[in-house]
Amino acid sequence: MRPTVDEYRHKGLRRKLVDVISAKGITDEQVLSVIGNVPRHFFLDSAFDDVAYEDRAFPIGEGQTISQPFTVAYQTQLLQLQPNMKVLEIGTGSAYQAVVLAEMGVKVFTIERQKKLFESNKVFAFLKKYINIKFFYGDGFLGLPTYGPFDRVIITAAAPIVPPKLIEQLKHGGMMVIPLGVGDVQQMRRITKNADGSLSEERFSDFSFVPMLEGKRQ
Ligand code: SAH
Repeated sequence: MRPTVDEYRHKGLRRKLVDVISAKGITDEQVLSVIGNVPRHFFLDSAFDDVAYEDRAFPIGEGQTISQPFTVAYQTQLLQLQPNMKVLEIGTGSAYQAVVLAEMGVKVFTIERQKKLFESNKVFAFLKKYINIKFFYGDGFLGLPTYGPFDRVIITAAAPIVPPKLIEQLKHGGMMVIPLGVGDVQQMRRITKNADGSLSEERFSDFSFVPMLEGKRQ
């Protein structure tokens, strides 16, 4: 069962979480404020109620995880979002990152390859108010050609390569934030598609994500 009540206690725990991730290097005030407002315990089973605001990843079923809040904040900060941008997210998972993006004021298009996770988000009542999030069941390597091009692409699973179709669906001037690498550790990269269509790449810290896999799963 999912918790549905946001108690005063949870708000206090969120304030502490904001202190923790800001001490780890998150400086974007809007990102910190959003992490301080989104009820992360709603995205987890009530068994995790006491630990939902620890800066850790947790299991969400199907062998997948809700990302660590620091990681969510880090990727969101790297995206340098502006209001109303179109953002493509690969790996909906718990939908926590999608809600954080929506709270940043952008239009979110999010894809999940695991049918069960996609279906469980369809009946997750809290998400109903987020009319600026569109949920898709599909293979993120293919993106959403009919909904693009996008201002930003965020990949929330360990990508073995930079998916070429996602680069195609990026606007000129757009950016992709991607944890790149096979194995236990991936390096966060930010790829910018310049005005002339050429690509530039910046390298950031190491993270550990579940793998980005090809094809859909029933
Ligand atoms: N953004 C999520 C993180 C979930 S973990 C959150 O905030 O909770 C990564 C997710 O990516 C998993 O749910 C996994 O099933 C999904 N995934 C992996 N490969 C994918 C692909 N090719 N297309 C879409 N989703 C994918």
